[in-house]
Amino acid sequence: MSYQLVNPATAEAMETIEHTSLEQTDDAIANAKSAQRRWAGLAPAERAEILRSFADAVAGDVENLAALEVRNSGHPISQARWEANHVRNVLEYYAGAPERLIGKQIPVAGGIDITFHEPLGVVGIITPWNFPMTIASWGFAPALAAGNAVIVKPAEWTPLTTMRLGELAREAGVPEGVFQVLPGKGSVVGNRFVTHEDVRKVVFTGSTEVGKTIMRGAADQIKRVTLELGGKSANIVFADADVDKAAATAPSSVFENAGQDCCARSRILVEASVYDRFMQGLEKSVAAFSVGDPTKDETEMGPLVTSVHRDSVASFVEDDKVAFRGSAPTGPGNWFAPTVLAPSSLDDRCMREEIFGPVVAVVPFKDEAHALEIANSTEYGLSGSIWTRDVGRVIRVARGVESGNLSVNSHSSVRYSTPFGGFKQSGLGRELGPDAPLHFTEEKNVFIPND
Ligand code: NAD
Repeated sequence: MSYQLVNPATAEAMETIEHTSLEQTDDAIANAKSAQRRWAGLAPAERAEILRSFADAVAGDVENLAALEVRNSGHPISQARWEANHVRNVLEYYAGAPERLIGKQIPVAGGIDITFHEPLGVVGIITPWNFPMTIASWGFAPALAAGNAVIVKPAEWTPLTTMRLGELAREAGVPEGVFQVLPGKGSVVGNRFVTHEDVRKVVFTGSTEVGKTIMRGAADQIKRVTLELGGKSANIVFADADVDKAAATAPSSVFENAGQDCCARSRILVEASVYDRFMQGLEKSVAAFSVGDPTKDETEMGPLVTSVHRDSVASFVEDDKVAFRGSAPTGPGNWFAPTVLAPSSLDDRCMREEIFGPVVAVVPFKDEAHALEIANSTEYGLSGSIWTRDVGRVIRVARGVESGNLSVNSHSSVRYSTPFGGFKQSGLGRELGPDAPLHFTEEKNVFIPND
C-alpha cells in the first residue's frame, strides 16, 4: 500500500511512500536478529567508530535533512537545522558508550562476582510525527551503542527524515540489518513490534492512548518498554519573578513547533497580583511571534502538520474564551494563529486535554500552594517552568511539581546529556543522559569460584 505525503505549508501533494507489509516487517525482524549477533560481537571500539562515522554522515547531510523536514513537517528551517545537528550530537555522545558499558566486581566469599550489561537483541522504535528525527535518535543511538539491532517505524505523516537517516547509516558503514527504517502503519508495523517475540524492547513515543495499548500488548511477553507520552505542562509565574521576561519568553515555550510539542507549556499559571501585567506583556510577545513560510530563516512558527490535525486543534478554541491571537498566513497550508485563552474554569477542556497546537490557556493563582495544586491537577507530568527569584521557593516548587523535566527562569527541557521522561501518564522510563544505553541492556551476574 502506498501513502501520499502533503506539504503542510502549501497543501501540495509530494511523493508517495510505500508502506511496509506484515511479511516485510517479519523479514526485517529476522534480518535484525541475525545482524545483531554480529554487531554485538564487534569490539566495543569498532562499534564506537562506526557510530562516529554515522554522526559524521549526518553532519554532512544537515542541510538536506533540514530541507526534508521543512517540506514534510512544516518545521521552520532554523529549527530543522537544529534538529539535524542534534541527531549528530546524540550519535556522537553515544559513540562514547560502547567502551564505557562498565560492569561491577562485587566482593563475595569463595571467588569473584562480576556483572555484564548484555544487549537485549532487537529493539523496535515507534515514533510520532512531531519531531521525527530527533525522537528516533534518542532511541536508536543508545540502543545501537549497547549492541542491539534497531528497527524504526516513523509516523505515517512524516517519514522522510527517518528514512534518510536509514540511508546515511548504511553509507556510514552500519552493517546491513543493524539499523532498518520501516515506514508503515501503526496497526501493522508498530503492532508487530509488540507481538513479535524476537523484538525484545519497544520504545514508543506518541499519545497516551496508544501507549497504553502498547504496554498492554507488551505484558504478554514481559517485553521491555519505554513510553514517552502526552503532556499538559505548566509554566508557573510568581509575582516576584522577572515578569516581563516570563511574558516575553512564554510564546516560544508553547508555540515552538506550532505547539506540536509534548513539552509545550500549554497552561500558564500566573500569580493573581501580576496577572494583568503578564497578559499585557504576553499580548506584545505573541503579536511579535513570527508565523509564516518555514523556508525563511526568520520564521519562528510554521503550519500545523496536516489539515486533520488543524481541525482537531481548532475544536479546542471557543471564541468567548479567546483573550487575544497572533497572526498567521491565509491561503493554502494548515495555518493556525497563536491563540491565548483565558478560561473561567479550571475544568475547561483547554486546561485538561493535550491540544498539541499553538493554543495556550492562562489562569491566575492565589499563592504557592494553589499554584502547585493547579499544576498537579492533571494526569500528565512531563515538563514545566518555574519563574521566581526566591531560591527557597525554587526548591519547594521544583520538588512539588509532579513532572519529569523542569526549568527555572527558562524553558529548556531536552539536552542529550541529561535524562528525559515523564511522571504519571506522561510515560515510563527515561531517555537520553548518561544512563540511556543501560536501558537497552540486561544486567547479568556471574560468580566464578576460586577453586
Ligand atoms: P500516536 O500515538 O497517534 O502515534 C505515534 C506512533 O504510534 C505512530 O508512529 C503511529 O503510527 C504508531 N501507532 C499508532 N497505533 C499503533 C498501534 N496500535 N501499535 C503500534 N504503533 C501504533 O501519536 P502522534 O499523534 O503521532 O504524536 C503525538 C503524541 O505524541 C502527543 O500525545 C505527544 O505528546 C506525544 N509525544 C510525546 C513525547 C515525549 O517525549 N513524551 C514526544 C513527542 C510526542
